[in-house]
Amino acid sequence: MIHNPAIECMSREDMRKLQSERLVKTVKTCYDNVPFYRRKMDELGVKPEDIKSIDDIHMLPFTTKHDLRDEYPFGLQAAPMSEVRRIHASSGTTGKPVVDTYTDNDLDNWAEGVARVLAVADTGKGDIVQVSYGYGLFTGGLGAHDGAAKLGAVQLPTSAGNSEKQIMLMQDFGSSILCCTPSYALHLAEVIEASDKVHLQNLKLRAGFFGAEPWTEGMRRELETKLHIKAYDIYGLTEMSGPGVGGECEYQDGTHLWEDMFYPEIINPDTLEPCAPGEFGELVFTSLCKEAMPILRYRTRDLTRLIYEPCKCGRTAVRMDRILGRSDDMLIVRGVNVFPSQIETVLTEFPVFTPQYFITVDRKNNEDSFDLDVELRSEYFSPNPSKQMPYIKPLYDRIVSLVGIKPNIHIKEPGAITRSIGKAKHVEDKRKFK
Ligand code: ADP
Ligand code: ZN
Repeated sequence: MIHNPAIECMSREDMRKLQSERLVKTVKTCYDNVPFYRRKMDELGVKPEDIKSIDDIHMLPFTTKHDLRDEYPFGLQAAPMSEVRRIHASSGTTGKPVVDTYTDNDLDNWAEGVARVLAVADTGKGDIVQVSYGYGLFTGGLGAHDGAAKLGAVQLPTSAGNSEKQIMLMQDFGSSILCCTPSYALHLAEVIEASDKVHLQNLKLRAGFFGAEPWTEGMRRELETKLHIKAYDIYGLTEMSGPGVGGECEYQDGTHLWEDMFYPEIINPDTLEPCAPGEFGELVFTSLCKEAMPILRYRTRDLTRLIYEPCKCGRTAVRMDRILGRSDDMLIVRGVNVFPSQIETVLTEFPVFTPQYFITVDRKNNEDSFDLDVELRSEYFSPNPSKQMPYIKPLYDRIVSLVGIKPNIHIKEPGAITRSIGKAKHVEDKRKFK
C-alpha cells in the first residue's frame, strides 16, 4: 500500500517545485533565527534572497557533526523552547550525543515518514507492531511507535532486550510486524530457534522493518528464511528526526527517500563537489520541513549512491543504494579500505557459517593485523582444528579476492560472539590506543 500517493508518486517537476518552496522558507528561518547559519552564510556571502529554488542549494554552507557538537545542545534550534514538544539524542556510537528537538509539526512529519515505510507491508488497523528498538533518547523506539500509531496499528512497546519475553509476547499477542535493528532481529530468530515454548509456526509475524545500522542482502535472506517474513530496510538518522527518512518498497531494490522532507545530495567527501548521477559518495541532507531544528546540507558520512530511474512500484521518490557504511566506520588495514559490511556480505555467502562476526584490528611488529572471529553453525561445528580447516580455506580465499585483505580467521562455537540488542558492535580497532 502506498500511504501518501500524492507525495510518493508526485511528478519530478512538481516535486522540484515543492522542494524549492520549502527550501526558500527553511533558509530564511535558518538565517533569521540561528546565529550559526547566519554567520556561515555571511562568510560565504550568501543571502536568503539568493536562494530562489532547489537548484541554488549548492550555494549553501555544509553542516557537519562537528558543528552539531560545537552548538550542543540547542545552538541550532530555530524555534523557541515553548514550541518544542520533545527532545531526542543520538545513541552516541561515535562520541558525544547529537541533539534533535521537535515541534508538534515535526513529530507529525516524523510519524508520516515512518508510516510511509511501514505501509509497504499494508500495516494498519489490527496489526500488532512490536517495537523492539530501544525506547528513550534513541529515536528508534518512539519513532517506529509513532509511525505505527499514524497507521492506526496497535503499538506494542516492548523496547529492546529481554529476548525470551519478547518472543513469548510475540507468540501470545500475535505480533504481525517487527521493528528493530537487523542484528537484534537475528538474535531474536536464534532465541526462537532454541526455544521449546515458542514455535515459528505459531507466530503471526509477516514483515520486519530493520535499520539503524548497515546490513546486507545476505542478512536479509537469513532473516526472511529464519523468521518467515519479508524484511525491509528502514533508514534514518537523529539529525533528520530519526528513522523514516526513507524505506524500501515491496521490490526491495533500493530505499526510497522522502524527498519532500529531506533533500538528498551525493558529494565527493574530499572535494565537496557533487558526484555524477549514480556515483558513490557521501550522502548530504537538507531538511525541508523541520521547524525546531532545521538543518542545511548535513554531511551524514554515510556512503551510498542515488538511483533516479523510476521504480516498478510507481513511487517517483528517488532511491538510495544500500549504505556501504559510514566513512568513520571504514578501516584502513595495510593500506586497504575495508567496510565491516563487506565481511558480512562474504560471510553470508557461506551457509555453514552464522552471520555473526567480530573484527579485531591491531598493529604487531609494525604491521596491521586483521583477526576475524566467525561461528560455524552447530551442525558443522567441531572444536578440532583439523575439522575446521576445510571451512576456513574457502572463506579466506573469498575475503582475499573480494575485500583484498588476508584475515586471520578464528572459528568460534555457535553463540560465542556477543549478541547486541541495539546497534551491533562488529569491530575493535586496538591501533587507536597505541
Ligand atoms: P548514532 O550516530 O549514535 O549511531 P543515529 O541513530 O542517529 O545515531 O544513527 C544514524 C546512522 O545510523 C545513520 O547515519 C547511518 O549511518 C546508520 N543507519 C541508520 N539506518 C540505517 C540503515 N537502514 N542502513 C544502514 N545504516 C543505517
Ligand atoms: Zn519502489
